[in-house]
Amino acid sequence: MDIFKVFTLEAAHRLPHVPAGHKCARLHGHSFRVEIHVSGQPDAHTGWVMDFAQIKAAFEPLYDQLDHHCLNDVPGLENPTSERLAMWIWDRLKPALPLLSEVVVHETCTSGCRYRG
Ligand SMILES: [Zn+2]
Repeated sequence: MDIFKVFTLEAAHRLPHVPAGHKCARLHGHSFRVEIHVSGQPDAHTGWVMDFAQIKAAFEPLYDQLDHHCLNDVPGLENPTSERLAMWIWDRLKPALPLLSEVVVHETCTSGCRYRG
């Protein structure tokens, strides 16, 4: 069973390694949508894999570092592509959320990435 919780965060970024003249080199913002997925068997008694509140609590310290920040200023996100952001979240969330199975980052309504570790 895979369960997930969705978070939205507002953040600015610029991509330092894109070709000269690329629009993503300029500072701009996104309403990122982040899905945190957790996989496991539903507990026989509670009927759930995990309390959604536990996912929220585990993600909260990371959310606070990202929301309304310039991602380039966040240590480890000097080149803040969606791919790097998904990996950054995974690496920091996995210890607190061992059942973490996937991090999905939607940069726009039509563009995003999935990371499964
Ligand atoms: Zn962008």
